[in-house]
Amino acid sequence: MKCETAAVLEERKGQVHRTGQGPIEMACNRDSLAGAVSQRACVFCGSRVVLYPIADALHLVHGPIGCAVYTWDIRGSLSSGPELHRLSFSTDLQEKDVIFGGEKKLEAALDELIDRHDPKAVFVYSTCIVGIIGDDLEAVCRTMSEKKGIPVLPVQSEGFKGSKREGYNAACKAMFRLVGTGDTSDISPVSVNILGDFNLAGEIWIIREYLERMGVEVVANISGDGRVADVRRCHGAALNVVQCSGATLDLAKMMEEKYGVPYIRVSYLGIEDMADSLYYIADHFKDIDPEITTKTSNLVRDELEVLMPELARFRKDLEGKKVAIYVGGAFKAFSLIKAFRHLGMQVVMVGSQTGTEEDYRELEEITDPGTIIVDDSNPLELSAFIKEKDVDVFVGGVKERPIAFKMGVGFCDHNHERKEALEGFVGMFNFAREIHTSAISPVWKFVPRREQKEAEHE
Ligand code: SF4
Repeated sequence: MKCETAAVLEERKGQVHRTGQGPIEMACNRDSLAGAVSQRACVFCGSRVVLYPIADALHLVHGPIGCAVYTWDIRGSLSSGPELHRLSFSTDLQEKDVIFGGEKKLEAALDELIDRHDPKAVFVYSTCIVGIIGDDLEAVCRTMSEKKGIPVLPVQSEGFKGSKREGYNAACKAMFRLVGTGDTSDISPVSVNILGDFNLAGEIWIIREYLERMGVEVVANISGDGRVADVRRCHGAALNVVQCSGATLDLAKMMEEKYGVPYIRVSYLGIEDMADSLYYIADHFKDIDPEITTKTSNLVRDELEVLMPELARFRKDLEGKKVAIYVGGAFKAFSLIKAFRHLGMQVVMVGSQTGTEEDYRELEEITDPGTIIVDDSNPLELSAFIKEKDVDVFVGGVKERPIAFKMGVGFCDHNHERKEALEGFVGMFNFAREIHTSAISPVWKFVPRREQKEAEHE
């Protein structure tokens, strides 16, 4: 039997598995079950989160005002310069536009906004209603691009046409139109693009500093603290380093096919994955720079000398505590499981919104027997799993936070809105400190479920 919880609807039972209970056959990568209240976002939102951190571009949402408000400043993506990305623009489609078409309104909005903000490029997002009324985004964008002399790029992200994953693909296709239009003549042969990092709480600056110490040039950040001019010339980099498999892997594949730029997949979360990421990059360039491997090992050693004693301190309090993880892309879950092992904590539930069969097979391999693995879950299921496993800390995003607090368990925000940098070796320290603070807070003793448990132990 794969699923033992009454909260799981019959039609969803193929999307829940317990490690060690038979072969894993996840029915993942499909549309969410109607009425199951999925934690997933729409296609438009998927595009918006990927493109939004490009800080000198103007982002215009063609649709009703709600779509723009829902995604306004959606990531805590920091910029070291312009902050045009943090403004939210919408064509605010009304009933009349739905009946007679919104193209004129879109053209007028582009005309005014480009003159007023002087952006380096514009991304125009299509929403559900635009897909229904059939506005020709492509034609309007082409006309305005010719008129204003900057790239005006349609993002075909009608909200209803799939899951967040399709939104990632639409974002990659829009960015790919920029790639190949800039000058690459002064790019070093030891150079990379950072893909799939969104500079939450300044994380991309940590990774860029490590690469600088290794002597590697970063051509483009895609898309955290991103700039249009860098994206235009990023086909000149020698390697694409891709984190967050769902969001930008499609772009890396398109660049490999058209420009021959190879890619590697990495994660900057946790100790092993951070170190491995740097070693993979070093390995790629060792024939051009024979010193790079030594520089990388020195960097890793120096960072670990500082980090490990601190982790030992946190571990004393955290040993044996139980964790549930629910994230967007599964890549993060792999790193988190390893990170929690360093803290002596046990992961008892792990799930993702958009994992693939391969992701879930890998999760089964690295989790302990009995661990619940779940695809595209919902609040009812997550609450049931947390209760069943008597979880101490729940790791998720903004939509999971209320579940944790209502149930009286600690919470760590590992998603868009986090304010703590969790990448890199310093990020592992921040992560351990945050988990420690949340897990051992005395406040949980006063939650009814915990009070009852304490009474049982007395
Ligand atoms: S695009 Fe559609 S699903 Fe997405 S926020 Fe707008 S109306 Fe909602």
